[in-house]
Amino acid sequence: MPKTPPPAAPTAPAPAPADEPEPEDAAVAPTDEAKELEELVQKGVKPRLDLAAELKKVEEGRGAEWTPKTRLGRLVRSGEITSMSQALSCGLRRFSIQAVVGNRDGFVGIGMATGKEVGPTIRKAIDNAKLNVIEIRRGCGSWECGCGTPHTVPFLVIGQAGSAEMTFKPAPRGVGLAVGDIAKKVLSLAGVKDAWGFARGQTRTTVNAAQAAFDAMRRTVTTRISEKQASRVKITTGPSMPVASAPAAPPAGGAA
Ligand SMILES: [Zn+2]
Repeated sequence: MPKTPPPAAPTAPAPAPADEPEPEDAAVAPTDEAKELEELVQKGVKPRLDLAAELKKVEEGRGAEWTPKTRLGRLVRSGEITSMSQALSCGLRRFSIQAVVGNRDGFVGIGMATGKEVGPTIRKAIDNAKLNVIEIRRGCGSWECGCGTPHTVPFLVIGQAGSAEMTFKPAPRGVGLAVGDIAKKVLSLAGVKDAWGFARGQTRTTVNAAQAAFDAMRRTVTTRISEKQASRVKITTGPSMPVASAPAAPPAGGAA
C-alpha cells in the first residue's frame, strides 16, 4: 500500500519558535498543520477543525488551558480573530476531503486530502484514492442464491477504522445493498451489488465509516480461504468479466 504523499508544499524552512510572532507567510505555515492532520488521519482521528468548540471555550473563559496548535488557533487565542465570520474569511480554514473511487467491478480505492481550496483538495483526494486502489474478491454468496456470478461479498467480512466497525454478509442476488448510506457508496463503487450490513461504534463519523467499509473490502482479499470454499460460492478476484484486450475503464469517481 503506497503511503499517500503529504499535501503539495515546498520543503518548509524550520518553523519559527511558537512564542515568536510569525514571520512566515501563509504558504509555508500550513505545511506543519497538514502533516499534523496527516498523522491524525493515520491514527484514525477525524481531522476536522472544531472551530466552534474552540471559540466557545474561549468565550466561556476556559481558554486558559487551551494551547492552540494551528495558526488559526493562535490568532483566535491572541484575540486577532474574535468572530466566526472573521475566522472563516481569513483564509486559514482548511478542508478535509475524503474520496472513494471504483470501477464498479472489483476495484475500489479511498483517499483523503486537506487543503484551503475545495476544488484542488477534492482532486488531490481523488488522486490519493486512485493510489490506494485495491482489487477485491467477490462471490455468489451462498447456497441461498446459486446464480454463480460475483455479485456479493465472498464471505462475512468485518472492517474497522477508529471506533467504527462494519460487518458485511453475503446476500442472494436481488437483495441489493442492505447497508448504511456511506457503506453503500463504497460497496457499489467496488462492484458489490448485494450485501447485508451491520454497523457498530461511531459510524456517524463519516470518515471512519467509509474507511471501515473499505477495510472490509480489503478483508475480502486478506482473509484466507480454502479452494473448496472458493469454488463452492464461486469466489473470484477483480472484474467479473475477463478483460480480453481493452484496458479497464477509468475508475468512476465519487467524493464523499
Ligand atoms: Zn448469486
